[in-house]
Amino acid sequence: MPHRVTIIPGDGIGPEVAEAAMRAVNATGVDIQWERKELTADIIIEAGKELPAHVLDSLNDTRVGLKGPITTPVAGGFKSVNVALRKKLDLFANVRPVRTVPGLKTRYNDVKIDMVIFRENTEDLYSGLEHEIVTDVVESLKIITRYASMRIAHYAFNYAVKHGRKKIAAVHKANIMKLSDGLFLRCCREVAAMHPQITYQELIVDNASMQLVMRPEQFDVLLLPNLYGDIVSDLAAGLVGGLGIVPGANMGENVAVFEAVHGSAPDIAGRGLANPTALMSSAAMMLRYLGEEDAAVRLTKGIEQTYIEGKHLTKDVGGSAHTDEFTDAVIRNL
Ligand code: ATP
Repeated sequence: MPHRVTIIPGDGIGPEVAEAAMRAVNATGVDIQWERKELTADIIIEAGKELPAHVLDSLNDTRVGLKGPITTPVAGGFKSVNVALRKKLDLFANVRPVRTVPGLKTRYNDVKIDMVIFRENTEDLYSGLEHEIVTDVVESLKIITRYASMRIAHYAFNYAVKHGRKKIAAVHKANIMKLSDGLFLRCCREVAAMHPQITYQELIVDNASMQLVMRPEQFDVLLLPNLYGDIVSDLAAGLVGGLGIVPGANMGENVAVFEAVHGSAPDIAGRGLANPTALMSSAAMMLRYLGEEDAAVRLTKGIEQTYIEGKHLTKDVGGSAHTDEFTDAVIRNL
C-alpha cells in the first residue's frame, strides 16, 4: 500500500523546493501517492477567505502533509495562511532540528551544533488578535494558556526522553511579562519535575539569543512560546548555514505537516536559486514519521554527502549550482 501524502507546493520558491523534495523522496523508492493541493497568496486573495476546504479535507484525510511556504503580506492584507493551517489542524508542536551540516563551511565550524527547537504553535502573539483602540493606538493580545503550555512542554520532554536528549532550556521573558510568560514557565517547571533525568534550565530570551551566538554548542533542546520560537529558529538557522538548511515539522494529535523554517523568499523565486535542503530534510522527517526509517536515513545521508563533496551547492551556501543540479547530486548520493 502506498503512503498517501498531501503535497502543498505553496508559492514563491515553494514549487521549486517542493518539486526537488518530491523527486528526492521518490528516488528513495518509497511508494508515495502524492495528493497535490495548490494554495498560494493569489488563490487566497481570489477565494476571499483563508483556507479552501479541499486543502483541509485532504490533510484531514491523508493525515500527512509536505508543505512549501505561502507568502504572507506585511503590515496589512490577509492573515498568514501558514499560521491558519497550523491552528485549524491543531498542529500544536513545531519541531525544528538545527544541526551542523558536515562539510558546510560556516562561522561555527569549530563547534558541533545539535539542538532541537520546540515552538508552541497555536497561541501567543500569533493569535493575531489586534485592534485599534482609538486612532493611532493599537492593542495586540498575547494569549498564553495552561492547556497549550502544558501540551508543548509534555511534547518536548517526551521527545527528549525518547531521543536520549539530556537538557531542556525554557526560553521566556517572565521578568517583564510576569503573567503570560510566567504561566508558560510554571507549566514548563511542572512538566520538568516529572522528568528528573532531564536537566532543566530557564533563560530569558535576550540572554538566550546572546548565548546562542556566543556558545551554540551548549544547547540541546529549546522550549519556547510561539513568537520567541519563530525568531530564535531563524537565529539558530543562521548558525548552521542559513534558512536554506533547517527543516521542521508541525505535529498534532492526528495530523502532521512537514515544512521548512524559511518563508517564500520572493527575492529569489522562480530563478532556480532556492536551496531545497530544508524541505528535503523536512521530507526525511516525514519518512521517519511514516515508518520509513531506512529511506529517511538514506535521504539524510545523501544530502550530507552532497555537502561533503561540496561541488553542487546552491548560492546561499557558497556554491553556484541551481536547485535541480543540487537535487540531482543528492539523488546520485542516496
Ligand atoms: P516568513 O516570515 O514568511 O517566514 P522570512 O522572513 O523567514 O519569511 P524568507 O522568505 O524565508 O523570509 O527569506 C529570508 C531570506 O532568506 C531571503 O533573502 C531569502 O532569499 C533567503 N532564503 C530563504 N529560504 C531560502 C532557500 N531555501 N534557499 C536560499 N535562500 C533562502
